[in-house]
Amino acid sequence: MDEDAILRGLKDTFKFDTFKSNLQKQAIEEICKSKNDVLVSMPTGSGKSLCYQLPAVLHGDKTTIVFSPLLALIKDQIDHLVALKVRAASLNSKTLKAERDALLSDLKSKKPATRLLYVTPEQAATNTFKNLFENLTKFDKIAYIVVDEAHCVSQWGHDFRPDYLKLGLLRANCSVPYLALTATAGADVTKDIISSLNLTNNLKVFKTSCFRSNLFYDVFYQNMMEDPYIHLKMFINKCLKDDDGVKKEDKACGIVYCRTREQTEVLANKLSNLGVKTKCYHAGLKNKERLQCQEDWQNGEYPVICATISFGMGVDKSTVRFVVHWGVPKDPASFYQESGRAGRDGKPSRCRIYYSRTDAKATEFHLAHDHSKAMDKEARRIKAENAIKGFKKVVELCENANECRHKLFSDHFGEPPPKCVDKCDICKNKKAVEKMVEEFHAKCIE
Ligand code: ADP
Ligand code: MG
Ligand code: ZN
Repeated sequence: MDEDAILRGLKDTFKFDTFKSNLQKQAIEEICKSKNDVLVSMPTGSGKSLCYQLPAVLHGDKTTIVFSPLLALIKDQIDHLVALKVRAASLNSKTLKAERDALLSDLKSKKPATRLLYVTPEQAATNTFKNLFENLTKFDKIAYIVVDEAHCVSQWGHDFRPDYLKLGLLRANCSVPYLALTATAGADVTKDIISSLNLTNNLKVFKTSCFRSNLFYDVFYQNMMEDPYIHLKMFINKCLKDDDGVKKEDKACGIVYCRTREQTEVLANKLSNLGVKTKCYHAGLKNKERLQCQEDWQNGEYPVICATISFGMGVDKSTVRFVVHWGVPKDPASFYQESGRAGRDGKPSRCRIYYSRTDAKATEFHLAHDHSKAMDKEARRIKAENAIKGFKKVVELCENANECRHKLFSDHFGEPPPKCVDKCDICKNKKAVEKMVEEFHAKCIE
């Protein structure tokens, strides 16, 4: 498959003039060779679907099988493909009999017209599917086997799906290239994906670096400030200035993450009284209130939201200029995800922890309590132990001035440390941070 043919497919079928990124292009070119297993690890929204859809379309008369965890996701994908005039179908417990019969008969024909067949992992375990798969393998009619949301194989991830573990077994009887796709996963999840799915055929990995060079990270200590609220207010004002004349919904805005509901309320009040328009968001609000709150922030009605970590799922706002953690993030992965909501438009943005030892001690107490309660069940105990380990890493980051702040993330994702230069307080001015840390420890003993 040459470059021109790929570009033509991109334009003719998917109506895109260019690739979304160089990584997307490279992954697609590799996959089109149909030689090696491929793992694509890119953030949500970076266009992973195209990485298998385009090769599937270009791969003329074979069918690509796509395992995807949710019927809702499958439906979206199929609607989208059908609108582009790509033959795509799904086999699941809700498929009507007539539709299923037509689909199966197409797949059993000499040259199936179905380009993509979506299957849930549960369905993969049924006899219908097993028979179909055997038949397709026997007559060499499968182009690729795709495992979307591949992190579902891992018990380390939060979306673990036991049925995903069986998908690697399909490998035993066929030599079709495997493609696994996932949003940026930690090193242990990635390891699980590779071993569970048996990605042994000369695996090629296409992975976005976790380093976000437009995000500046720093840490401040609440107990060393005369008035931490005023400190926060000045920080917010600094982050939000410079957008006169911008449309309301494109105005700069920010998120302050708090550990408890009470904190979100107290902080939103304080900030409002100090002249920063702020609302709070937490699971204790009525559904309607919560949605309204999120919508108003999204539309730029007010710039700052004080929220518990339940805020952010499905929030897609590119002009977030700062994310503050008031207190201590839960673990490196959560910290990466939450602070990573800043600067999605690529413009310089700030991520700051307002550390509080009192807050850290409270969390440590809760985690130890969860741990002691979980002693009876192995799986729960391991989870509780990991929670403690993860939290410790963040506390160490906050209470020391040894290493680049971004290194917390590159370690977690199993990448070499980034060339930060001046994208965190420590790399920018190590001496000053060391002095502050020293004073912090002295003050804590007092
Ligand atoms: P992911 O699975 O990585 O979260 P998706 O595959 O859902 O991302 O794609 C996210 C969005 O990017 C979709 O709206 C898709 O149409 C769009 N997209 C994908 N590839 C391109 C491209 N080459 N040019 C422009 N938009 C693209
Ligand atoms: Mg996706
Ligand atoms: Zn650094």
